Amino acid sequence: MNNLSKPLMLVLSSPSGAGKTTLSKKIQQSDNSFKISVSHTTRKARPNEVDGVDYHFVTKEKFKELLSKNVFYEYTEIFGNYYGTSKSSVNEIISDKCNVLFDIDWKGAQQLSRFKELNLLKIFILPPSKEELEKRLIARNQDGKQSIKNRLLSYSNDIEHSDEYDHVIVNDNVETCFNSIKKIISKHLKN
Ligand code: 5GP
Repeated sequence: MNNLSKPLMLVLSSPSGAGKTTLSKKIQQSDNSFKISVSHTTRKARPNEVDGVDYHFVTKEKFKELLSKNVFYEYTEIFGNYYGTSKSSVNEIISDKCNVLFDIDWKGAQQLSRFKELNLLKIFILPPSKEELEKRLIARNQDGKQSIKNRLLSYSNDIEHSDEYDHVIVNDNVETCFNSIKKIISKHLKN
């Protein structure tokens, strides 16, 4: 089976605030063969987020119950909150004959990598610098001070895992970064 016959599992990871969510949305909007896998999380919804669209927002109790029922392909804990990809959200996308786009962290990417049969393409997005990341986190005004602090603290640990990915791209400019991702995808699909 070549890369054309299996749905593509595109994983985008990055330190929080590097622009991954914007890029994921752009990929989906520009190519309707891609659908974003909607994760479950115990994090509180931000004001602009919609349940079932951005995430399935659940309580910690509910998440643990789902975990015990083996509902997730992968999951992680970040700053005291759980995030996980349910098998049903991925299977729904695959049964629609679409490619799956994952916006997940490096721990989730490691877990998906264990499924050797998947047509996985993993891209790590880097911000131009830690200083720029801090500016972006403050400017997007979605996280409290402590949350921003936590996200910056995990930056060095996050980027240490970038060499586990097929490609690493610096998001200096969203359009340029987006075009690089598109080129990587089309090259991968031709192989
Ligand atoms: P945020 O709270 O900013 O939405 O997401 C925090 C981090 O959790 C991001 O790096 C995001 O990619 C990651 N994340 C979101 N959903 C999942 C998931 O289902 N699994 C894993 N492993 N990470 C996730």
